[in-house]
Amino acid sequence: MILSIENSNAPLQDYGIQIPLLADRYTRTLESVSQHPELASHKKAWLLTADPKPFSREQLLRVHDEQYVDALLSSDPVQVMGQVFEFIDADGKFNDRYVASPNNRPMQELVEKRLAHAAGTLLACEAALQRSFCYFLGGGAHHAMRSGGRGFCLVNDLLIAVRELQFRKKIGRVWIIDLDAHKGDGTAEITQGDPNILTLSIHMAKGWPLDEDSPLDAQGHLKRPWWPSSVDIPVPEGAESAYLEMLRQGLRQLEILSCGHLPDLALVVDGSDPYEKDVLKSAQPLQLSLEQCIERTKIVHDWLRLKKVPQAYVMAGGYGPENWRVHAGFLKSVLPEYLP
Ligand SMILES: [Zn+2]
Repeated sequence: MILSIENSNAPLQDYGIQIPLLADRYTRTLESVSQHPELASHKKAWLLTADPKPFSREQLLRVHDEQYVDALLSSDPVQVMGQVFEFIDADGKFNDRYVASPNNRPMQELVEKRLAHAAGTLLACEAALQRSFCYFLGGGAHHAMRSGGRGFCLVNDLLIAVRELQFRKKIGRVWIIDLDAHKGDGTAEITQGDPNILTLSIHMAKGWPLDEDSPLDAQGHLKRPWWPSSVDIPVPEGAESAYLEMLRQGLRQLEILSCGHLPDLALVVDGSDPYEKDVLKSAQPLQLSLEQCIERTKIVHDWLRLKKVPQAYVMAGGYGPENWRVHAGFLKSVLPEYLP
């Protein structure tokens, strides 16, 4: 099952934010999957469209602190959005990523649209619990931390969805398996000490958000907070040929840490920025081929399916005109298994 959200397309430029995040990854993935010979005539069986309500204040507070949530839901969220989308510098000044204009749409509206889009992750998790597999064409804001959004990630949709379902007693234990090129550091920070959520992140060994060569200074003190995932797999530059085996080993480690208790749900963060044709400079140290990208997600999928763990997917990072191929390639390889 694929989940596609309607009415959530809100180009940042309409709000004065000059960041060219492409939304056509969603539509191109869907178009490509729709043309698959086995899937074309069964669209109703695998496509779910929805128009979710934005996450509520109460749902946000299960993950983020009150000060951040209040700032986000205030009548003037420009400052807080400036930090998330990096158009306000550390000294509080606007940079050239923001163009003030009377024609800009209100920033409050952008917050609302983003929170509605993020709520798609909750719908995808619910669909996965019912149908064993759901892939959301969106979501995956894994850099958002408890005290606020960062790195273009407004709120941590993964954890808001998980905590909401735990609150409703629909699920207990959860695995979050993060395949994005960048470490899922927000997810790791928020889940520290939570025995019911285990996290795995396979990511570039160096580069944002792990900019330091060593997290320790000359005196052996942490230069800045360092949040481990339950299983971290840092991939050194040039080690692409070892990537799939490193992932397999990481999955085994995750299972060992679970002490024989399978989770009620697995959330997979299927970032396509490890793809060699991704154009984001900060993702360049990891250069997987298209085949390797598809295979990595398939390894996770087949492993979870064998264990009968319901699986929900989000797209996370992916920059450039070719990234849709990663998502579409994976979906075309597994969706026919789920046809009635
Ligand atoms: Zn990324």
